[in-house]
Amino acid sequence: MEVILADSAGFCFGVKRALEITEGEIEKAGGRVYTYGPLIHNEIVVDDLEKKGVTVMEEDSDPTEYPPGVVIIRSHGVTRDVMEGINGAGHVVVDATCPFVRRIHDLVSDHSAAGEYIIVLGDPAHPEVKGIVGWCQSKDISVISTADEARKFELFDQKSVFLVAQTTFNVKKFKDFVEILKGKGYDINALNTICNATKERQEEASRIAGEVDAMLVIGGKHSSNSRKLYEICSERCKDTMFIQTAEDFTPPKPWSISKVGITAGASTPDIIIEEVFKKCQN
Ligand code: SF4
Repeated sequence: MEVILADSAGFCFGVKRALEITEGEIEKAGGRVYTYGPLIHNEIVVDDLEKKGVTVMEEDSDPTEYPPGVVIIRSHGVTRDVMEGINGAGHVVVDATCPFVRRIHDLVSDHSAAGEYIIVLGDPAHPEVKGIVGWCQSKDISVISTADEARKFELFDQKSVFLVAQTTFNVKKFKDFVEILKGKGYDINALNTICNATKERQEEASRIAGEVDAMLVIGGKHSSNSRKLYEICSERCKDTMFIQTAEDFTPPKPWSISKVGITAGASTPDIIIEEVFKKCQN
């Protein structure tokens, strides 16, 4: 059986950078090291960090309840209030927010300060989106996650609109939703802030899914970019499976397919990808 592994599968630049920053802090720390929430959506990596002495500071908890230490902000970023709260509680903040996400924070902050209405395309429950919303300097902000919400969106004050997207948003949905909103006649400045790593990963996954008999998407169950990959691959290949580790995958016997494709979300370690790859080959 032929196994096609996506070149883009696995850790992205932002996740690698956050891990390197964390490893650096572990090495030099004389005291406690926390990550604000799990560093990435992968239990194996989080457990490994815990063994090295890193504690997860619960999101939305009171930072004063934790003895002072170094608090690493993960690649998703956080709101301005959270950042200030951690600082104010006597911790040292080490900001590992991905520079691509940081850029969205700055844009939202600047454009909202200039009086524009902000629209964020993304999942309102996702930490990255919550963080982005938290840099808006006014209450004039909406998060839109579905085409229906885009169709129902109404702007009562005729302001100009500045639109950004969660970095892992689906590229096709971005274009569709912007079209729907522009069709309402608003003055919209839409900036495609979807990260290239995400775009390339989604395009490659879609291409491979269109060429194979079965497709495996590896990712954490809470990983938004992995779930989006699953959605995209399912549209092209009806035999698409979402797994977290090689153990989740038992090839049916007999498995009468000639080609299987593999992709993985941005927080999937190489070791898991290799295990799944070998299991398919065997
Ligand atoms: S997916 Fe892109 S924006 Fe998100 S952490 Fe990775 S490199 Fe940064």
